Amino acid sequence: GAALPVPDKKVDSVCPYCGVGCQLTYNVKDNKILYVEGRDGPANHGRLCVKGRYGFDYAHHPHRLTTPLIRRADAPKDPKLVLDPDRVHEVFREATWEEALALAAGKLKDIRDTKGPKTLVGFGSAKGSNEEAYLFQKLVRTGFGSNNVDHCTRLCHASSVAALLEGIGSGAVSNPVMDVTQAEVIVVIGSNPTVNHPVAATWMKNAAKNGAKLVIMDPRQGELTRLAWRHMQFKPDTDVAMLNAMMHVIVHEGLVDQAFIESRTIGYDELKKNLVGYSPEEMAPVCGVPAETLREVARTFATSRASMILWGMGVSQHVHGTDNARCLIALSLMTGQIGRPGTGLHPLRGQNNVQGASDAGLIPMMYPDYQKVADPEVRARFEQHWKLQPGTLDDQPGLTVIEVMHAITAGKVSGMYIMGENPAMSDPDADHAREALAKLDHLVVQDIFLTETAVLADVVLPASAFPEKTGTFTNTDRLVQLGRQAIDPPGQAKQDLWIIQEIARRIGLDWNYRHVSEAFDEMRHTMPSIAGITWDRLEREHAVTYPCTKEGDPGDPVVFIEDFPREGGKARFVPADIVPAAERPDAQYPMVLITGRQLEHWHTGSMTRRATVLDAIEPDPTVLVHPLDIAALGVKPGELVTIESRRGKVSLYARVDEGTPRGSVFVPFCYYEAAINKVTNDKFDPVAKIPELKYCAVRVTAGGTA
Ligand code: SF4
Repeated sequence: GAALPVPDKKVDSVCPYCGVGCQLTYNVKDNKILYVEGRDGPANHGRLCVKGRYGFDYAHHPHRLTTPLIRRADAPKDPKLVLDPDRVHEVFREATWEEALALAAGKLKDIRDTKGPKTLVGFGSAKGSNEEAYLFQKLVRTGFGSNNVDHCTRLCHASSVAALLEGIGSGAVSNPVMDVTQAEVIVVIGSNPTVNHPVAATWMKNAAKNGAKLVIMDPRQGELTRLAWRHMQFKPDTDVAMLNAMMHVIVHEGLVDQAFIESRTIGYDELKKNLVGYSPEEMAPVCGVPAETLREVARTFATSRASMILWGMGVSQHVHGTDNARCLIALSLMTGQIGRPGTGLHPLRGQNNVQGASDAGLIPMMYPDYQKVADPEVRARFEQHWKLQPGTLDDQPGLTVIEVMHAITAGKVSGMYIMGENPAMSDPDADHAREALAKLDHLVVQDIFLTETAVLADVVLPASAFPEKTGTFTNTDRLVQLGRQAIDPPGQAKQDLWIIQEIARRIGLDWNYRHVSEAFDEMRHTMPSIAGITWDRLEREHAVTYPCTKEGDPGDPVVFIEDFPREGGKARFVPADIVPAAERPDAQYPMVLITGRQLEHWHTGSMTRRATVLDAIEPDPTVLVHPLDIAALGVKPGELVTIESRRGKVSLYARVDEGTPRGSVFVPFCYYEAAINKVTNDKFDPVAKIPELKYCAVRVTAGGTA
């Protein structure tokens, strides 16, 4: 056959997809990525999954936005429109950068000046770099004039972070994933790592094969379950019942680490009192796990040399997501299973930079490094950093993602700037979200494709794909890694940092960052946790773990060895009681809908569905159904079924899945033609404002329209 083309350059970078943060090398010829190879990074040691290895050619897809677009005066904003890429010109006309930026920023400025700062909102992205996240939140806080800035962490681990900040004083992981190789017991709860964190899953598999006891707690049965020592297949929505029952056993059998509790925690008595009503016998029928299994796993977890807990969205995306995480924290603290290698708490981060975007302050209640906007001292410090007059910064936390959609409907928000997010697909009750976005007076969207959100924009700004820019990205292990530019953006598409800065200047900010390293340098002077990381060191070493507070610090992969970053250095127990899901099945909507991701596709699909290999493997929207439920529906595998809730309905192809419990269906949220978030519920956790994407009531019927 024909010889393979030889690359003319190799560029070391990281994977653009999940939070594992695998290091890779782009092999490039004539501004095209030919292929990708794994590199020996701390999280992957050369390994890559199917997305990292084959999911790169989206960057070269003909759908890429290559010129700024302005909505035609006669094109109505239709929230139901699914725009055929060949008919873009019917809705938008091409514009110069100068015209598009003037319109985008000019109207945002007008709205701020006439209706007030709080009528503007910015959504940043967990797919952008730390520097982009940092400058974006600074733009909103200092240019728009409020804290109305958020991103998809709100749909992801907001509840885990809330519980972790409250309980142990830090929202990030205590130990890296790789610590599973040093653990004796590994608990994986509400997570399907073979699909969502595939390379991390390989380390878990290696550990299980080497004798670690792998405990899977999940209503569904994923591939990793094959290697599990125990699978606790609890009923959806009953996490607190199951975890409290385990803690009840540990307390009543005297298996707690009394010395750890006394020297390093507060609030234990309150927790203990709360557990009285949660005996395994009482909770077994509630959660569906036999009392004997609850006891056995509780004893094994408490008494092992090193037990580690890793969790995902199955824990966090509930109206009781914060309570679920509180229970995991309490379990770890009461047994002293934290602060040593092979122990601790690890919320597995989804997107490649959701950790970093949150750290950089892309959240409405905190500045960079989780410093509270409501604290006057913190505010004064940021006013100094950012050279503002005292008293300029807003002292109120801003609106969260879901609250924004309701605020638009209520007429309280008129203008938005969205960089790289796709709420028309990712938000719950997506039809409502789309109607809200369509109702805005002014929507500016900065992206690489004309997403379902961009279709509703007034101005679309063509941005750069991951391999087209340089910046830092923080993985799930708190590892700050350098992503390096391998290719140039197509046509007139520009780098995101350039676009943010041009918008900032036009709304009156005097910014002049000439290189991404200047933005990073400013960040590290406002963020104590990364203060010691220099750009030079990142260029030399590719990755540095934080906390790294002084130049030359090696960085700490395992934290909380001696104390917790809370008052007095002590962690806090927070008891939790059972709170039912916001919408339970009933006669009309008798089944439970669980949403999530698929191995080959990433989030709303805008990248992976345009990656040739990945889309060839999974081209069509599917729903996973238990074989007996498929039979009961009277359909054959591969036939269409319709899933309907009180909010909306979609049709997808039924796929047999023994791992999905009877009475539930599982749907990935990556398919625009069957956007399952039209069906999901936007009720949220009262603490973290994260919606209940893992549970709502649906009716499933045979047939439908593809
Ligand atoms: Fe990329 Fe995650 Fe796969 Fe690694 S495991 S290659 S970071 S998608």
